Amino acid sequence: MDIQQLKNLFRKYNLKPNFTYGQNFLIDDFVLQDIVDASGVTSADAVLEIGPGIGNLTRLLCERAGFVLSIEKDDKFFPILHGIKKDYKKNFRFEIADALEYNFQSFFQEQGFKSYKVVANIPYYITGKILQMLLSAKFKPTSVTVLTQKEVARNLVARPGDLGLLAISVQLYGEPKIVQTVLAKSFYPAPKVDSAVVKIDLFKKPKYDIGDEKKFFKILKACFTGKRKQIHNTLVNNLKLEKDLVLKILSDIKIAPSSRPQELSIEQWIELARIIS
Ligand code: SAH
Repeated sequence: MDIQQLKNLFRKYNLKPNFTYGQNFLIDDFVLQDIVDASGVTSADAVLEIGPGIGNLTRLLCERAGFVLSIEKDDKFFPILHGIKKDYKKNFRFEIADALEYNFQSFFQEQGFKSYKVVANIPYYITGKILQMLLSAKFKPTSVTVLTQKEVARNLVARPGDLGLLAISVQLYGEPKIVQTVLAKSFYPAPKVDSAVVKIDLFKKPKYDIGDEKKFFKILKACFTGKRKQIHNTLVNNLKLEKDLVLKILSDIKIAPSSRPQELSIEQWIELARIIS
């Protein structure tokens, strides 16, 4: 679909891009094809798509996948999605709902699917929330292929030295890779920055045992609140721990008190959180 075809579609359905829903539509057919290729989806797969919008990615997914469930928040897209449903009666289902609220795990389980993959051009304003929801789900997807802002993609694949909170919450559960960069002009309206296709392959068996997830992230969040601060200070100030105790813990697990949070590895965070909690 080129920009003219998109504009015609908008006219036909009396639509216009809604910025509050993070609507940037992909108008580059090659990129759409690349996303589906990168996802590795086959007729054996069930797919969850978040934010189908005008259904350009949706149609390609319906061609390729065994089953597609698309969740769209904006009910203006109902007629378009309903039209797609007519073309793919057997293997397509859509819901007008907030993807952060909709219980897709139960849906897939009730339909008897043993696994599912996520493939989507997601709304960027909730990238972090979507990734956290998917990766910490009880019934997790086997892979997640999504577009993100290029900067976010770089953050996701970061190594210790630049390892932020979002990267940790992704890398605990899987291995993220940047598949390719996507120029801003591939979208309408064009976002301010370039994007990237990111694929996260989730670990088949959990790689890390982080114990109580809530406590683990509470400790991490407290430490990352003082991003540029040294770890011994954030532990004392944000978690209200005794200074002597903090220094002893850090020395026991061989973390320099002057380390910054982004310098620690996932293994070190797990060790630190285990001792503190
Ligand atoms: N997949 C389409 C549209 C991407 S734009 C394309 O590539 O062209 C992001 C889409 O996510 C929009 O359709 C927007 O309405 C939808 N969206 C925004 N917030 C959402 C939410 N909480 N749950 C589900 N969909 C959402």
